[in-house]
Amino acid sequence: MDGSLRVASWGGTDGEEKHLFLPANVMAMFAQVNDIKSIRDTAFDEVRAKLAAWLKANPIPDWLQEQTKALHQWRSQRRLARVILHWRGNRFAGDDEIFAHLDGTSDGAKLRGRRDKDTWNGWRNWDKHLYEWERNLHQKAIRYRRAIYRDFAAFLTRKYNCIIMEDINWHEIGQKAEVGEADNAKVRAKKPIGAVGELAQFIIERAACPEVVEAKNTTRRCPVCGVIGEGGSALYHECKNCGRIWDRDKKAWLNMLLTGERLDAKLPKKKRDALRKARRLAASGPVTQETPVALEPCGA
Ligand SMILES: [Zn+2]
Repeated sequence: MDGSLRVASWGGTDGEEKHLFLPANVMAMFAQVNDIKSIRDTAFDEVRAKLAAWLKANPIPDWLQEQTKALHQWRSQRRLARVILHWRGNRFAGDDEIFAHLDGTSDGAKLRGRRDKDTWNGWRNWDKHLYEWERNLHQKAIRYRRAIYRDFAAFLTRKYNCIIMEDINWHEIGQKAEVGEADNAKVRAKKPIGAVGELAQFIIERAACPEVVEAKNTTRRCPVCGVIGEGGSALYHECKNCGRIWDRDKKAWLNMLLTGERLDAKLPKKKRDALRKARRLAASGPVTQETPVALEPCGA
């Protein structure tokens, strides 16, 4: 693996087939966003534990008691930052050391630009810096991804009039764990990064005749013999009936092309026959490494 992520596979009745990838540099940006997030989370856990211990051991004003009631359950840095901002205007005797640890002291600004926690003066200064870095990088990664998807949608919709896509709740898929796959966690982490729902949306918006078909059994049915076998998230499936080895995604788009056959019943016979022939050709082709979006030139 070169670090890129396959986000879509497509094939057309003109015999062309390819995958769309998010390149490694974009994936690296998303990975770095996750890294920063996890550094922030670890630091947050530490500062929260330190503050909790201090609150227990020291006399504190009622407002602070009230505002930190369920501190051990907090998951958001923003919440602690809000308390610290309020604390700034309500300092009390004996809070110097803990407050410096939380918010930093006035010369903390001098240390800006450093990424190592120990060179930062106060948790909040450091977290704010990391948060801004994380947010900028995330927005940049999303902009790159969007540009790639827009280009791809433009390319496809110029090439094909009829575009058949699976009706899948991509958001749900992004959240769902895939049981039985070796690199489970990796797949789970990557799927939301793919944001395939956004890609599908761009294609639907631009296509002359977009067609969304039911996704049932598209990765289970053998497009050649029609037997429904095991699906699963493995990349290659073997048909237990005819023995063909399928790339999972190619299997899906071939099945969608076959669904398209039912949809084009209204086309003139000559055209219908030509499309059928093209589909059969596509189905009999070899499985390639370079092989679910199915596309049809309907020549309108
Ligand atoms: Zn088969």
